[in-house]
Amino acid sequence: MTELNLDQIKDRLIAERENLLNKLKENDLSIDDSETPDPVDLAVRNYSKNVMLAVSENESRQLLLINEAIERIDNEEYGSCQNCENPINPKRLDAIPWARYCLNCQELVEQGLLEED
Ligand SMILES: [Zn+2]
Repeated sequence: MTELNLDQIKDRLIAERENLLNKLKENDLSIDDSETPDPVDLAVRNYSKNVMLAVSENESRQLLLINEAIERIDNEEYGSCQNCENPINPKRLDAIPWARYCLNCQELVEQGLLEED
């Protein structure tokens, strides 16, 4: 195995998770459907609501990946590709600590050649 600093990576993942959770919480609070606004206002609101939902979806997805990465650290499985099981380049993990796949497999995912759950 490479000399990954798992403690440090875990700290980063946990900090990132806090960050995301806070963001998601803010999004929830800022949507208020209790009054009946005029149509223009409503359109604007729907628009920003959709944008926020899209953002939340990304963030929820990232949250999932972060949780998985933390689990892999706990199970001592961290750092290997979830598809081909080769070690993931440490530089890649440094940039994206919640990365699931090595670069090759990530490319397959992006080309739609590898199914993600
Ligand atoms: Zn791989």
